[in-house]
Amino acid sequence: MAKISINLTTGSVQKEDIIVGIDLGTTNSLVAFINPEGNPQVINDTGKGVLVPSIVHFQADGNVVIGNDAKAFLISDPQNTIFSVKRLLGRSYHDIENHKDLFSYKIIDDDTESLVKIMVGDKFYTPIELSGMILKELKDRTEHALKTSVNRAVITVPAYFNDSQRQATRDAGKLAGLDVLRIVNEPTAASLAYGIGLNPEEEKTIAVYDLGGGTFDVSVLKIQNGIFEVLSTNGNTFLGGDDFDRAIVNYWIEANELDRNSISENPEFMQALRLKAEEAKIALTTQNIFNGFVDTIPCEITRIKFEELISDKIQETIKCCQNALKDASLTSEDIQEVIMVGGSTRTPLVKSTVSEFFKKPVHDKINPDEVVALGAAIQSDILAGNRKDILLLDVTPLSLGIETMGGLMDVIIPRNAKIPTKAGRQYTTSIDGQVNMKISVYQGERDLVKENRKLAEFDLKGIPSMPAGFPKVDINFLLNADGILKVHATEVRSGVKQEVEVKPTYGLTDAEVEQMLIDSIQHAKEDVSQRMLIEARTEGEQMVYTVERFLEKNKSYVSDEEIAETNIFLNELKSALSSGDKDHILKKIDEINEFTRPFAERLMDQAISTAMKGKTID
Ligand code: ADP
Ligand code: MG
Repeated sequence: MAKISINLTTGSVQKEDIIVGIDLGTTNSLVAFINPEGNPQVINDTGKGVLVPSIVHFQADGNVVIGNDAKAFLISDPQNTIFSVKRLLGRSYHDIENHKDLFSYKIIDDDTESLVKIMVGDKFYTPIELSGMILKELKDRTEHALKTSVNRAVITVPAYFNDSQRQATRDAGKLAGLDVLRIVNEPTAASLAYGIGLNPEEEKTIAVYDLGGGTFDVSVLKIQNGIFEVLSTNGNTFLGGDDFDRAIVNYWIEANELDRNSISENPEFMQALRLKAEEAKIALTTQNIFNGFVDTIPCEITRIKFEELISDKIQETIKCCQNALKDASLTSEDIQEVIMVGGSTRTPLVKSTVSEFFKKPVHDKINPDEVVALGAAIQSDILAGNRKDILLLDVTPLSLGIETMGGLMDVIIPRNAKIPTKAGRQYTTSIDGQVNMKISVYQGERDLVKENRKLAEFDLKGIPSMPAGFPKVDINFLLNADGILKVHATEVRSGVKQEVEVKPTYGLTDAEVEQMLIDSIQHAKEDVSQRMLIEARTEGEQMVYTVERFLEKNKSYVSDEEIAETNIFLNELKSALSSGDKDHILKKIDEINEFTRPFAERLMDQAISTAMKGKTID
């Protein structure tokens, strides 16, 4: 249903409410939308700027402030000032244990496997709630700036985010009152902002280099038929512009022979130094020298000195680029476009080093701290149906299916299927009167489920008692555009239903996906013969079960000799079943089939003549 919103200042009516693109960053967040001219544009709420620092401050009076207003409290009220919450999103304490010193606020560690919580005063907050607060602030500012309500959004996440982190981002959006239409990879958004991948005919391999405040990541993407496939990602989640600031602070401490101990006892001074260092760093992007003061301490640095201080850090990012190429089995020559993302790529030495490594000029025309949000706005425009010529698709890296008899994997959505997608199959019971059906969902390429990864398991309960093979259980898989899987099971005759949403706690890394694929290729031959044996066995077991049941129920249609002979066949089949010889099993199944066919025909004739007399069949 289309919503109608009225712009109160102009009185104009908008038929459909707008969809915005949101870059929910570790350091800064921002929103972009498609303006009436059809171009992506960042939101600048009057006087508040474009970038909203991703910081939440809980004030003593219970109020919560977000953004620049919260930043000031990082030093004066660290326990109540939450920054870098993106690092905690969808994570367990176990995941972040080694980095907990970086957080000045209290992270709860009572259960190391469940998702982290943060304690502020006497209240607990989840990273989802805190991210939700940041998103709510972004929503409010956007509504204020555009004077229209904003209910739908596309939110970006790093390419390496796993299912749990993606789901957490989506949930944060929900808490902010946003209908999150799509979770998009940051490198994909950056690429769209440069118009790369908008033409479905275009085939390209690109690298996206993203150096933000505290994190670095590089992604290699293959763009083909409008599909953005992540070939590899690499990076360092604790490397970024903050390290550049720290390097300058240390340099000033040494140059002025300041006493480290006394400084560490004076957090306000330390923070002032850090802010001055960031100011110097930004100035050195365009100037060759910076001069300033903190109190009476002179703070001077030249661009040459600065570059000397940070060159090791930049080299570290280049190592990551090398690894990303290696993982994608590519060399720098294979990369056709290099896109710069993140505020820290403004530093000229970063740009020149990256350009040298890839041996080509880099894309840097668009503001690197806005490029992801601008691309997200383009993605939202595509979703809104305003760019009919393009369809953006992703693919699922591994097959999804369920366990069938004998522990076999039955694929429902094959690997490399374009998402969103849905597919289903019908199954039945194997035992008379079976009222529950266990449905186990797996991901992977191997023929045996035990070699694959289990995603979920649930019981379809309350199937009315029927003979084996009678119930019709439809199992449907719906894989949405964010890679989240919904599984529905319905018994068609009775309407009994069950549904699960698969939110695996931990997603797979690219390396794990790759390993699963390699394993499946290496074991393909033995998997096939194993599968055939299991299928033959399952069929044989079903046959024994059905025939024995038949003889029990329909004694009057078969002679004693026939029963005796059938039992001989059955015993032969049973011993074949334990032999492990597939062909032998199949031969015995055929023999029984052949021998018992007349019984069934006799029964059928009887049933038909009963029906003709207008009686119901038993
Ligand atoms: P994130 O993606 O982590 O939220 P951003 O992309 O917003 O981060 O980048 C923030 C970083 O960019 C900060 O370390 C900031 O100091 C740095 N930065 C911003 N402008 C410049 C500039 N002109 N030169 C160098 N670094 C800059
Ligand atoms: Mg970013």
